[in-house]
Amino acid sequence: MAGNNGVGPAIGIDLGTTYSCVGVWRHNRVEIIVNDQGNRTTPSYVAFTATDRLIGDGAKNQVARNPTNTIFDAKRLIGRRFSDECVQSDMKLWPFKVVAGPGDKPMIEVSHKDERRQFAAEEISSMVLMKMREAAEAFLGSTVKNVVITVPAYFNNSQRQATKDAGVVSGLNVMSILNEPTAAAIAYGLEMEIGSDGYKNVLIFDLGGGTFDVSLLTMKQGVFEVKATAGDTRLGGEDFDNRMVNYFVEEFKRKMKKDITGNPRALRRLRTACEKAKRDLSSTAQTTIEIDCLYEGIDFSTTITRAKFEEFNMDLFKICMDLVKNCLTDANLDKSNIHDVVLVGGSTRIPKVQEMLQDFFDGKELCKSINPDEAVAYGAAIHASVLDVNTTDKVHDVVLLDVTPLSLGVGLHSGFMSVVIPRNTRTPTKMEAEFTTAKDNQTSILFDVYEGERTRANDNNFLGKFTLAGVPPAPVRAPKINVCFEIDANGILHVLAEDKGTGQVSKITISNVDGRLSKAEIDRMVEDAEKYKAEDEELKKKIEAKNALESYVYKLRNAIEDQMIIAKLSLDDKKTIENAIEETIQWLAANQSVKVDEFEEKMHYLEKIWNPIVTKIYI
Ligand code: ADP
Ligand code: MG
Repeated sequence: MAGNNGVGPAIGIDLGTTYSCVGVWRHNRVEIIVNDQGNRTTPSYVAFTATDRLIGDGAKNQVARNPTNTIFDAKRLIGRRFSDECVQSDMKLWPFKVVAGPGDKPMIEVSHKDERRQFAAEEISSMVLMKMREAAEAFLGSTVKNVVITVPAYFNNSQRQATKDAGVVSGLNVMSILNEPTAAAIAYGLEMEIGSDGYKNVLIFDLGGGTFDVSLLTMKQGVFEVKATAGDTRLGGEDFDNRMVNYFVEEFKRKMKKDITGNPRALRRLRTACEKAKRDLSSTAQTTIEIDCLYEGIDFSTTITRAKFEEFNMDLFKICMDLVKNCLTDANLDKSNIHDVVLVGGSTRIPKVQEMLQDFFDGKELCKSINPDEAVAYGAAIHASVLDVNTTDKVHDVVLLDVTPLSLGVGLHSGFMSVVIPRNTRTPTKMEAEFTTAKDNQTSILFDVYEGERTRANDNNFLGKFTLAGVPPAPVRAPKINVCFEIDANGILHVLAEDKGTGQVSKITISNVDGRLSKAEIDRMVEDAEKYKAEDEELKKKIEAKNALESYVYKLRNAIEDQMIIAKLSLDDKKTIENAIEETIQWLAANQSVKVDEFEEKMHYLEKIWNPIVTKIYI
C-alpha cells in the first residue's frame, strides 16, 4: 500500500505537446491511468467557451466549432520569449491568438464568458496537469500531491523552470523534472542491465504528434547521460494526418467536382476522421472513412489502404531515419555500438516506421513491449515511486543523474561568454568562477547569464541578468567576485555572487526578464486555478441537475404512454401532465445552460403536478 500522510502516492506525468499520459506504481507494477472518457492518453487541449472551460477530450472534440478559443501546443510556448524565432513561426500556424506580454512573455488571448482573457503557457499547461491529477485521484481514490513531470532532453533551464511552475500552479509538488528519453529508458529497466563493458548506449526514437526527437543516452552504473540529441520540432503524427487530408481533398474534387478547402469545419471533420483511420491502419491493412454531410450536404465514403498511407508519407519516414544517422554521427558512434533501441511516441505504432528503423539497425529487436505513447509516463511513474518517501510499495532504487544539455555561463564585458558549468556536466552540481570589474571605481557589476556553446555571448540563449551592487571603489580588476552556479535536482539554476574583498555575501536574484514567472504571478495563477476549480464543480452540478430533470421528464412521458396507466388516468389529469411534460421538454431545449436551481425548480414543478396524479392511480 502506498503510504499517505494525506498526500497520496506519487504519480508520473508525461506532459506532451499533443497528448499527455499519467501513471502510478501500484501493486508492484506501473498502472497507466484512464481518464473520465476511458482513454489512456488525454489531448493536451484547453478550450474556453461562452459558458465553460473544457480540458482534454472535451476540448479537442469541439475544436471545429471554436477554433480561436481552443488552445493546444502550449508546450511549444512554455519558457520561451514572444520574440523567439520559433514562437513567431509557430504563431502563423495557430488559429488562436498569441500576444507579447510584459517582459516579452508570450500570452495566449481568448474570449471566455464574453470577456477577453490572457493566459501564460504555464497556466494552460497547469490546467492539463490538473486534469491528469483528477484522473489519478479518481482512479486511486485518494488525493495526489507529489509528481514527476517529464520534459524533452533539449529543454533549457527556463523551459524546465516554467514546466515546474505549471505544476505549482496546479497545486502539485513537483519532486523532479525528468528527461523524456531517460524516463523511457527507465520504463524498460535498462539502467538495471549493465553491458559486458560496464556501460551501454541506448537510442530513444520518439515520434509523437507534432515533434520528432532522437536521443542517445549512455548509461554507466545506473546513471544516464544524454550524449546527443537530434530531431525535428515540426514533424509528427499530425503531418501524417495532413497528408491523408490532402489526399482525400483531391479525391473529393475528382469525384464530386467540389473543393472543400475553403470550409474549415469540413476540413476539421475530415482531419478527425483521418487521424482515426491512420490509427486503424497500424493494425489493419485497409480501413474506411465515412462522413455524413461533409460538404454542401454531400456524404463522403471511401477506403484507404496501409500501402497508400505509407506511400504518401514515405519521404517523412525517410527524414526520421536520416535524423537517426545525424544523432549517431554527433555522438561519434556507429549503429553497431547501440545496445538498445527504444520506441516512444504514438506514431511509432506505425508498422512501416518500426520496419524502417529495425532495418536501419540491421534487424535488431526494438524495445516496444510497452505502449509507445505510454512509455514516458511509465518511466516517470517508476521514478516518482523511487522518490516517494511515503510509499512502502517500493520499486528498486535507481540512482539517476542527468546532465546539462548546454553550457551555462556569464557574458563578459568583452562580449564573450565565460562558461561556469560546461555542457554534459552531471547534475545536480555546483560550480564557481571568479570575476572582477571592467572599470576603475566600479561599484556595481551587471551579470548576464547565458546558455549555449557559442563563443560570443550574444549568439547564445540569454537566460537572465542580475546586479551585484555595493562593491567598494577600487582600481579596475582589483575586486574579486566569486560567482556560484548551482543546478538542483530539477535541473533548475540558482546563481549566487560573493565579493571576496569585503567577505560580504550578496544573494542575487535573477530578474524577471527571462520570461519566468514571479512569485506574485505564480500566486495569482494558483488563485485562478482554485477559482476555476469551483467553476468546474458548479458546471458538474449543473450537468447533473439537467440530466436529472431530463431523465425524469422522459420517465414521465414513458409512464403516460403505458396502457395500464392510461387506463387509470382521468382525461383532465392526462391533459395536465402531457402539457407539463411538453412544456418542460421545450424549456430544456431552450435553456441548456441555466443555473442549477432553475433545473431543480422545474423538477419540483413537475413533481408537484405528477405526485397527486400518481397517488390517485395507485390507490
Ligand atoms: P506527444 O507527441 O504529444 O507526446 P504521443 O506520443 O501520444 O504525443 O503521440 C501522439 C500521436 O500519435 C498522434 O498524432 C496520434 O495520432 C498518433 N497515434 C496514436 N496511436 C496511433 C496508432 N495506433 N497508429 C498511428 N499513430 C498513432
Ligand atoms: Mg511525447
